[in-house]
Amino acid sequence: MAMASVAIYPGSFDPLTNGHLSIINRGLAIFDQLIVAIANNPNKRPLFSVEERRSLIRGAVGPEPRVEIDSFDGLLVEYAKRRSCRVILRGLRAVSDFESEFQLANMNRTLLPDFETVFMMTGEDYFYISSQLVREVAQFGGDVSGLVPQNVLEAFQRKVAPPAAARGSGT
Ligand code: ADP
Repeated sequence: MAMASVAIYPGSFDPLTNGHLSIINRGLAIFDQLIVAIANNPNKRPLFSVEERRSLIRGAVGPEPRVEIDSFDGLLVEYAKRRSCRVILRGLRAVSDFESEFQLANMNRTLLPDFETVFMMTGEDYFYISSQLVREVAQFGGDVSGLVPQNVLEAFQRKVAPPAAARGSGT
């Protein structure tokens, strides 16, 4: 039998959105195993800690044994070497993603020649969803249900104070 195919799906996941979840589910249709790798980059001043992000991903993905959730510091190629994995999975939302992803994929291949990046085009329902936008909307009290899984929605509700209007004055 052929060796199990494994891909690393790296990102900040701050927090996981339905766009990420869709890439994970579609990735599982192609790869035997996915390692969802949370980049620990304190310079990005994340809203959710790595541990919070990890448990939100697990909560949304469920007990699926083909998905491992891990985190890494530093260079992705070094992490990939440690995990003996040469394939990474990325989602492509829009033309704007293309340029930076193109640079990143080529840089990674320069650093590690047999490294391969596989891109998946995002579904039309998700192309406008980014963690950053979702964070901003939620922090200003906007409704992000439909953009993130239910457990992430609840995590937002715990983390950011509800807006005055939603607190319900009874009038
Ligand atoms: P980063 O901080 O590296 O941009 P993200 O957590 O935002 O990481 O995203 C991780 C990966 O998921 C990237 O490949 C990104 O393009 C992809 N992604 C993010 N949002 C979506 C979405 N709505 N649909 C499809 N792919 C997405």
